[in-house]
Amino acid sequence: MHIYKVGGAVRDRLLGRPVSDIDWLVVGASVEEMLAKGYRPVGADFPVFLHPKTGEEYALARTERKSGRGYGGFTFHASPDVTLEEDLIRRDLTINAMAEDEAGTVYDPYNGQQDLDQRLLRHVSPAFAEDPLRVLRVARFAARYAPLGFRVADETLELMRLISASGELQALTAERSWKEIERALMEAQPQVFFQVLRVCGALPELLPELDNDTQGLAALEQAALHEEALHVRWACLLHTLPPASIKAVNQRLKAPRECQELALLTGECLAKAGQAPELPATAVLELLQKFDVYRRPQRFEDFLIACEMTALGEGKSGYPQADYLRGAAAAARAVDVKPLVQAGLTGQALGEALKSERLKALEAYKLG
Ligand code: ATP
Ligand code: MG
Repeated sequence: MHIYKVGGAVRDRLLGRPVSDIDWLVVGASVEEMLAKGYRPVGADFPVFLHPKTGEEYALARTERKSGRGYGGFTFHASPDVTLEEDLIRRDLTINAMAEDEAGTVYDPYNGQQDLDQRLLRHVSPAFAEDPLRVLRVARFAARYAPLGFRVADETLELMRLISASGELQALTAERSWKEIERALMEAQPQVFFQVLRVCGALPELLPELDNDTQGLAALEQAALHEEALHVRWACLLHTLPPASIKAVNQRLKAPRECQELALLTGECLAKAGQAPELPATAVLELLQKFDVYRRPQRFEDFLIACEMTALGEGKSGYPQADYLRGAAAAARAVDVKPLVQAGLTGQALGEALKSERLKALEAYKLG
């Protein structure tokens, strides 16, 4: 049997980038041989094993054929007679279709190194069109390697257009789509992901709400430049949409709770926050209450950062409203509940007294 490093590990080493996880390919072995050597089987779909000591993934060489719609619609053939070249040709991009043996020799039957040099994301074979997820993967790699000057090859973009027009993207599950979107959002230039999807016609299929947007992408670009967290980036991306659309996108893609929540609150409250210094104390208090800033201070801070990123995305030099609102939140939170409790207040009466004390504190803050 022959064992090779494949995929991202080879690509990123040749690019001089850090290699995080290594995918291994085993050619010329059977399932029985792997089990006999102590590899532990994983994955119901493909013959993939975990190394008994390192826990890294080892996949048996396989060929694939499309047999129906969606991800389930694949049949694979894994056996000791599947060659290295046969396994590599089923991969998405030429730069992902290289292998390296123990001696460090690189096997590159589909000219991945040339495409690395030319900074091209190019599909390996027409079978690319058999898995619509690859449209998202290519867009994600474009976002990741944009700082290095990579772009999608014309003929690959053409295939991505055909896939998008075929309606096959609708067959992707929310889980698979979100996983790609989430990873794309955390790349160096996440806006490129959405730009590529737009250019190939995939955006109207996946995120029609964003098809005409430019401000969301500009805010997202800023959030990435400032290395903000996933949920902040998501909130930035969706900030121009009406709340009903934000809800719809969140639910359709099954975004995680934290992302859903911040995006919706940002969509609902961004305009108000922008006017904060001119608002009456009652309106500022309402905003703070909506965020439950007393128990969830970090969520309010994340919101202010998202607001800041949208302002930078609009070409403004800063967002002074953020510091104003931080001060307001601190003033409201400084109100002590103890004296009210000691005065015998409970239940609704306590709540109302607390609110009125906070309002007083905000009025004083406005004057000060
Ligand atoms: P990353 O740095 O994001 O892990 P990667 O290239 O290693 O990048 P993986 O998702 O770990 O990506 O997949 C490993 C390899 O498997 C890829 O390099 C590619 O060759 C192949 N691959 C993964 N998913 C697909 C797919 N949907 N279609 C075709 N080939 C794929
Ligand atoms: Mg990988």
